[in-house]
Amino acid sequence: MRKVVSIVVPIYNEAGGISRFLDEKLLPELNNLNKTYTTEVVLVNDGSSDKTIEIIKETALNKSRADVRIISFSHNFGKEAALTAGIKYAVGDAIVLIDADGQHPAEVIPQMIEKWEKGAKVVTAVRDHSKTNHKIGSSIFYKTMRIFGNKSVKEGAMDFRLIDREVADAYNIFTEHNRIARGLIDWLGFPQEYIKVKLHGRMSGKGTYNFGKLFALAIDSFVSMSRTPLVFFGYLGGFITIFSGILGLFILIEQYIMGDPLNLDWSGAVAMCIFISFLIGIVLISQAITALYISQIHTEVKNRPLFVIDKEKSVKLEKGKNDK
Ligand code: UDP
Ligand code: MG
Repeated sequence: MRKVVSIVVPIYNEAGGISRFLDEKLLPELNNLNKTYTTEVVLVNDGSSDKTIEIIKETALNKSRADVRIISFSHNFGKEAALTAGIKYAVGDAIVLIDADGQHPAEVIPQMIEKWEKGAKVVTAVRDHSKTNHKIGSSIFYKTMRIFGNKSVKEGAMDFRLIDREVADAYNIFTEHNRIARGLIDWLGFPQEYIKVKLHGRMSGKGTYNFGKLFALAIDSFVSMSRTPLVFFGYLGGFITIFSGILGLFILIEQYIMGDPLNLDWSGAVAMCIFISFLIGIVLISQAITALYISQIHTEVKNRPLFVIDKEKSVKLEKGKNDK
């Protein structure tokens, strides 16, 4: 039996370049792959409002040997939703996620498949830093992702990836709404390989992920990936309370009990300030305690799988009822 390779493409208002991408970039790669694999293309039309869908239907790709499926959303749900749908409907043993704007170099797909055949469960394209389009935005994106808990994210790692069927099955279990495919795929923790690539320019139109959107994505990501922001203010409160507590005690003893032997002559206003700081510290601490409860609820609500099994590394794994 030939293995099946699926290509998932999220598409939103790409009328300008989509036919060139599908026919000139993707199709040659698929024709090549068809020698060894059965290929499937899942085109996820994320509620495009231009002529994208009509153009797709006219492409040579749609009439080629590859099994082309088009999933059309009722309106624009965003790239992450499109990827999630694509992964859900793709049937391949390996699934390649690639952008429709021509920025992701399709010519790297054979290398990805080679690494996958050698055992990698996730093959991720990493942006070669000498040539980037939105450097500042994405650099802040990765830095924030890394600082706030998601240490596994490699800087420059893109959505342009290959994932194994096993990873896709695990990914399909996620129910959380705020999601970033690359973050979740990394979180799953399957053996990962990287390929350095140079990004091409967009074939047409403008990218939707500008600085602001990337920053918002980074915030969403660390909120969903880590509780560092929640507990940060607790630590701050603890610090303020301890510091002002000690200072307050010092003044009390030095000035009021020992009669100011150091001649510091603290004013009442200073004592008041320190007292207020002390109280603010306590407020922050109690907020953090509430935050910890919220964080527990947050974890429960996300309802992530409790564990993810790597079948290859397991021995004599009893097949569960839900296994295919
Ligand atoms: N995309 C999508 N839904 C959206 C925005 C974008 O499916 O709401 C697709 C888009 O058609 C492209 C990919 O996601 O194939 C990446 O989008 P874009 O080029 O705008 O992002 P960037 O390259 O700036 O990260
Ligand atoms: Mg792009």
